Amino acid sequence: MEPLLLEPVIKERIWGREYWTASARPDGDCTVAGGKWKGSLLSQLWEEHRELFGDVQGEEFPLIVKVIDAREDLSIQVHPDDAYASRREGGARGKTECWYALDCPENEEIVVGHHARTREELCRLAREGRWDRLLRRTPVQAGDFFQIPAGCIHAICGGTKVLEIQENSDLTYRLYDYGRQRDGRPRPLQLDKALEVITVPFVPAQAPAQAEEEGQGAGGGLRLLADCPYYTVWEAQLRDGLQLGSQEAFRILSIVRGEGTVGGIPVQAGQTLLLPAGSGRLDVSGGMTGVLAAGGKRH
Ligand code: ZN
Repeated sequence: MEPLLLEPVIKERIWGREYWTASARPDGDCTVAGGKWKGSLLSQLWEEHRELFGDVQGEEFPLIVKVIDAREDLSIQVHPDDAYASRREGGARGKTECWYALDCPENEEIVVGHHARTREELCRLAREGRWDRLLRRTPVQAGDFFQIPAGCIHAICGGTKVLEIQENSDLTYRLYDYGRQRDGRPRPLQLDKALEVITVPFVPAQAPAQAEEEGQGAGGGLRLLADCPYYTVWEAQLRDGLQLGSQEAFRILSIVRGEGTVGGIPVQAGQTLLLPAGSGRLDVSGGMTGVLAAGGKRH
C-alpha cells in the first residue's frame, strides 16, 4: 500500500507558528494531499478505514505530530499524566511529548526540568517568581532529541524549531508566560495545578537501549530515540537502496532533511507521510533524514 502524503494545518500563535503535520483533532485535521485517498481527512480515515492503521484500538487517533517554529519563547509549562487528567479534568488524557530539534541559533538553550529538591522548594521558588533559580536550562543543537514525560517542566526558547510528537491531548498548565499580553490581557496561568503535577526532584530521561535496526540496505538504518507507552520514535537515515521494514502497525514519517522518494512518493524536508499498516517494504531513493513515529501501544 502506498504512503499517504499529509497536508499540514497551520496555526498562528502569540510566540510563532505551529504546523500540525499529523493530527486528526477537530481543531486541526490533516488532509491527504494525493493518491487514492486524496482529500480525505485523517479523522475520516481513522473512523472509516481503520485497516490503514493496523490493529490499533481507541476512539481517537493516538498522536499529534507538529513542527513548532518559535519566534519567541514559549510559556513555561507542564502537562499532567493520564491518571491526574482523568481524575481532575473530566476523563481527559494527559500528555507525554518529545522534541527532535530541527534548527536553532548557536548557543541556544531550552528549558527541561528544574532544580528544586523538594515540592516545598519548588512551590516557594515558583510563587516568588525566581525562575532563573528554579528552571533547568540545557543546550540544544539541530538533531538533539528530548523526551518530555508528563510532570516535566519545559519550554522551547525563541529561534528554535522542533518536531514534536505527543499524545493526542491539549491539556497544558502554564506556570509563567513572561508577563506577555494577548488582546491587552495576560494569558491565564494554572500555577496551582502545575505545582501539583510537577515531578520532584527532576530526573533526566534515559536514552533507550538500541534494539535491532528495522531498516536494511545500503548505509541506512534506524536509531531508536524514544520507547514509551504512548509512542516509539526513531531517527531514520533514508538512503538510496534502503527498504523501510514491513509494518504491522502504521507509522508517521516526518522528513527533516533532504529529498527523495519513499514508496514512489516524492518528498522533501518538511513533508509528512502516513505509512499505512501492512505497507510491505518501501523502497527509498535520494538522501534524507526522517523521524519515524509509531503510536498507540497504550491502547
Ligand atoms: Zn508541552
